[in-house]
Amino acid sequence: MNEARVMGVSKRFGEVVALHRIDLHIGKGEFVALLGPSGCGKTTLLRLLAGFESPSSGEIWLNQELVADQDRRMPPEQRRIGMVFQSFALWPHLTVYDNVAFPLRHQQHVPEEYKQNPRARVAQMLEMVGLGGMEKRYPSQLSGGQKQRVALARAIVFNPTLLLMDEPLSSLDAELRIQMRKEIQHIHRELGTSIVYVTHDQSEALAMADKIIVMRGGRIEQAGTPHEIYYEPQSPFVAKFVGRANFVKGSWADSSTFLLERKGQTSLPVRVSQDLTPFQREQVLPVRPDQIRLHPWHDGQDGVKGRVQHVQFQGRELLYSIQVGEEEWEVSTDIATRFAYGDQVAVELVV
Ligand code: ATP
Repeated sequence: MNEARVMGVSKRFGEVVALHRIDLHIGKGEFVALLGPSGCGKTTLLRLLAGFESPSSGEIWLNQELVADQDRRMPPEQRRIGMVFQSFALWPHLTVYDNVAFPLRHQQHVPEEYKQNPRARVAQMLEMVGLGGMEKRYPSQLSGGQKQRVALARAIVFNPTLLLMDEPLSSLDAELRIQMRKEIQHIHRELGTSIVYVTHDQSEALAMADKIIVMRGGRIEQAGTPHEIYYEPQSPFVAKFVGRANFVKGSWADSSTFLLERKGQTSLPVRVSQDLTPFQREQVLPVRPDQIRLHPWHDGQDGVKGRVQHVQFQGRELLYSIQVGEEEWEVSTDIATRFAYGDQVAVELVV
């Protein structure tokens, strides 16, 4: 069984507690994203899995084997782990071929057929990342996207059971990032390797991962599927960090009706269709920008009135800031829903 387990792991650097009693299971073939703000401990957790650091307490297991606790640490090259860094970390004096072939000579547990015929294996990997025939180039002769592909080929060439990626796309431009996301997903499907992917970009985590671990201050704030993290946040932190929630004030009339009351306006009942987490049932309802609908306002109508404060054209969607009483809500709509600055709108919540 290829899997990784982090059991009660804490990591201290002097006074700083970088990780506090982390429990995590990465199943065979699972794509897990570690998401969180700067300094929350993402990279430290990745470095512990890789074998660059030892835990201060707790245990790390890879493929049913204890690889690290406070007394022992199996070195990285013995762990069958591939790694991709934000900085690519290619050797500038080695060709693309030698960069990619490097782990075949230096890692343990390399399948014998790859050692016997490294040329064929490197060619196969370069083909997979779309760089077939580029063996003789040097890193300085490659674009940023091509360098990142070489780093990816080098990380997977020896058939690792776990692939660790630390912000691998953050130095690429927006268009290339989207393209590389697809390629990483493609490689993940082809190889079936488990992936732990560190990012502070929520859209990257939502787009690619099977499971998202939201971290904060060295602890796991919430773990779940992208759908659970987005629609069933368990804390204000998760609701705000992933998907820019609006915190809408009101009161619960019954378990499926939330009443929006605004000064001088009729209260608007919101039918709540899904299972909500306890935090969502408090007096503030977290509402995603895409869970708010806007309609033209007609005098004399019931409901809650808002006023358009700001509109941003985003290509496939429009982003509005809507003033509702004393609150300002962020709303995203398709481009067919056209309102202009100052328009009055009827606001509907679909939660
Ligand atoms: P970023 O997104 O900025 O890379 P991160 O979530 O990856 O942040 P870590 O790099 O894991 O965060 O750092 C977690 C905490 O541990 C931070 O407070 C950091 O300053 C501290 N830390 C990390 N490495 C060391 C070290 N070698 N010595 C001292 N403190 C460290």
